[in-house]
Amino acid sequence: MQKYWGYDAFLPLQERAMHCVRSERDSIVVLPTGGGKSLCFQVPALRMSGMAVVISPLISLMKDQVDALVECGIDAGRMDSTQSVEERNSVIARIRNQKLKLLYLAPERLFSNGFIDFLRQNKVSFIAIDEAHCVSMWGHDFRPEYRQLGILKKSFPGMAVHAYTATATEKVRQDIAQQLCLENPEIIIGSFDRANLNYKIEPLANKLNQVCDVLDRHKSESGIIYCIRRADVDSLCEQLADKGYKVAPYHAGMANEQRKENQEAFINEKIDIIVATVAFGMGIDKSNVRYVIHTGMPKSLEHYQQESGRAGRDGLEAECCLFYSGGDYGVWKSIMRDMEPQAQQIALDKLDQMYSFCTGIACRHQGILNYFGQDLGKESCDACDVCLDQLDTMDDSLEIAQKILSCILRLQERFGGDYTALVLTGSRDHRILEFGHDTLSTYGLLSDFRKRIVRDWIGQLIGQNYIQKVGEYNVLNVTEKGWRVLKGQESPDLLKPAKKQTKTSKIVRDSWLGVDEGLFESLRTTRRKIAQEKNVPAYVIFGDAALRDMARRRPSTLEGFLEVNGVGQTKCQQYGQDILEVIKDYCHTNGVDMDAQTPAETCIAEDVPSNPSKARSDAFNLFSQELSIKEVAQSVNRAESTTVKYLLEYIKQKGIDNPYPWIDNEQVIHRIADAAEKVGTERLKPIFDYLEGEISYDQIRITLACLGQHR
Ligand code: ADP
Repeated sequence: MQKYWGYDAFLPLQERAMHCVRSERDSIVVLPTGGGKSLCFQVPALRMSGMAVVISPLISLMKDQVDALVECGIDAGRMDSTQSVEERNSVIARIRNQKLKLLYLAPERLFSNGFIDFLRQNKVSFIAIDEAHCVSMWGHDFRPEYRQLGILKKSFPGMAVHAYTATATEKVRQDIAQQLCLENPEIIIGSFDRANLNYKIEPLANKLNQVCDVLDRHKSESGIIYCIRRADVDSLCEQLADKGYKVAPYHAGMANEQRKENQEAFINEKIDIIVATVAFGMGIDKSNVRYVIHTGMPKSLEHYQQESGRAGRDGLEAECCLFYSGGDYGVWKSIMRDMEPQAQQIALDKLDQMYSFCTGIACRHQGILNYFGQDLGKESCDACDVCLDQLDTMDDSLEIAQKILSCILRLQERFGGDYTALVLTGSRDHRILEFGHDTLSTYGLLSDFRKRIVRDWIGQLIGQNYIQKVGEYNVLNVTEKGWRVLKGQESPDLLKPAKKQTKTSKIVRDSWLGVDEGLFESLRTTRRKIAQEKNVPAYVIFGDAALRDMARRRPSTLEGFLEVNGVGQTKCQQYGQDILEVIKDYCHTNGVDMDAQTPAETCIAEDVPSNPSKARSDAFNLFSQELSIKEVAQSVNRAESTTVKYLLEYIKQKGIDNPYPWIDNEQVIHRIADAAEKVGTERLKPIFDYLEGEISYDQIRITLACLGQHR
């Protein structure tokens, strides 16, 4: 693991899963996305004699995995229908010469003419079934070809078979064991919790603004925006493109070619954002998706877990924002209308649970875990809007809830949420006047609030089981729990319309600790260039975690480079020199120290701003109070070089023309201005030389930025 992948510690349960492979005992391994399942079979495959056969459902996944292994210096290959005859022959030759350590196959290939016999003539070390839930009809991605995989145990007597999946309920696990004919398999189940995902859930209000808020926290990072309908994908994509975001659409209504092109542009980081229906995602192994936004509510928590789970596979912090509305509930319900009754009931129950999850005010991590029958095992997750105290509840929730509930009763439990909200806010809608509901005692009781807010509160009361929707028209009924509220025996929580911004999660704070962001950006550019030359996705070259560690350690030697988490020997040999050049260049130009201590060796500051955008906006605030660079750097816990970068942006954005707060020596300012006039401002080096190296690059940059405001 250290030599090829550059990792020196196991992720939870990886060691146990690897041990099963080494001891040739069948196993079922259930780990969440990003849990490091691939290494569980890839690492033992290297140590065992013969070749491991890996069954995988999608060509794109196989290609990514094989590319990533080859990048690490491992002899891996795949056989699928997209390959040329030469490519296939080369793989066959490597199998025959006993070179290949891992062979990836789609099930169709395995069952094609005589292929199992061919494999049997060669030494196979074990068989791994990736995405094993595809075996089961109870899972969410059933694939009939996977059903036939039971034959493997018969065709390779005594051979261990290992199944890997991220989603498996008890029923699916049993099915996997049975269908694959596993013998007394060891079952290893990790926590479904994705601690690095930060969940935020709020009612949809102004979609574009809400979405842009998230995007602006993640400038030039990769993210996915899910919409329920194709038309929403197209319109949102257009609006975002108009605002200058690098974005492309993806949905099943588009031509195949165009879809593929957009997907590749996203994977290769030519665009930052993909706006898509749920058609997008299966088979996307991109590890550095930093946020997933849902502009509508998914139809079940399984779907939400899957879709939001595409963020942060690399284990670094990522944000999952869901904007829901009562309308989404109606859309799904009408889509489910034609299902056969039993399936419809299951789907509706799942939809209700999803809606309760959105409107509830309990820890989001805990909510998802409970759904999958697990427990967080602690009070607070420190990574959701509820636990980070980003939700504000109304002080008079009980009173408001009582008004809403009595209005429902006055309406004789015969009307839906929209209508009830209209009555409560005192609308002059003609239906209300015709029914004479303007004469009810509850008419206009909440007229201080807009209808949308009252509608949201009704949704929250449904989510907390004080109200239920009944029948085809979703009329509102007060539940038993609701009656307790009316009697003042129980109090619900209702959200304040505006959110407060407060704490940020610890994982976000730690993963940027000590990272020079400017260098991180330069390394990203280099990574993109290498990936383009090699025609592989950027994250196959290095993950974001490795890149941040490089920008944190800033090594000056190859030995130092090998210390970076995620750099193994092959990658060190292949890219070490080039990356060191970039680091040296950057550090030299920006006056940044190399060979920095890692955060584990330094003390960890308590209150570090979260992502770069938060640090930037905090810094802007402090610059406006004319604090020095050093003070600001300490306060936002960023390198001084990064802080200067923020300052330059601040000067430009605010049109500051006086460098005095940051360069408190008038003479220095005059000398720089003089030098700039003499040698021009095209490049900094001539100015630096003209000043005989007595004035730092940063001082030159800051002064020029301010002088530039005069032009
Ligand atoms: P899964 O298949 O479970 O979704 P992957 O196998 O794709 O997860 O691994 C997720 C990420 O974690 C990858 O970038 C992988 O390189 C990384 N990873 C795996 N094992 C380790 C480890 N022991 N230490 C650090 N990173 C790891």
